[in-house]
Amino acid sequence: MCIFCKIIQGEIPSYKIYEDENTLAILDISQATIGHTLVLPKKHYENILEIPTNEYLNVMNTVQKITKKEKETLLVQGFNILNNCNEIAGQTIMHFHIHILPRYENDDLKIQFKNHEKDYDLKKIQEAILK
Ligand code: AMP
Ligand code: ZN
Repeated sequence: MCIFCKIIQGEIPSYKIYEDENTLAILDISQATIGHTLVLPKKHYENILEIPTNEYLNVMNTVQKITKKEKETLLVQGFNILNNCNEIAGQTIMHFHIHILPRYENDDLKIQFKNHEKDYDLKKIQEAILK
């Protein structure tokens, strides 16, 4: 059984933020920023490619609830909402989950996109995706 399934079963302790029939939200054990939360489906699906759409929507519904709650209760100025899919993207626990990362003035979280606009032919990329 994976570590998140063990948390869902109550075999491993966690700091629960929210729970309903289909989803659970817990504090990430390693707080990238204060309030860093993981939202997971109670059923085990490996990643965004595997989870059925209705279950995915249940998770995202909970994600939105948590952002609204944390906006009210912590002094949150913004959020990054993040999912890592597969090892190459940094997924370490193979049970689908969404990271909610509250953002604060002067927090030291860096999520940066390098601008490669001039290096790639967007038309070709579009065609490759749509073929
Ligand atoms: P990812 O790298 O996207 O798979 O994220 C996995 C996250 O789970 C990491 O941010 C870990 O800090 C977090 N994590 C690992 N073990 C636990 C645990 N027992 N309780 C809460 N969060 C955990
Ligand atoms: Zn699992």
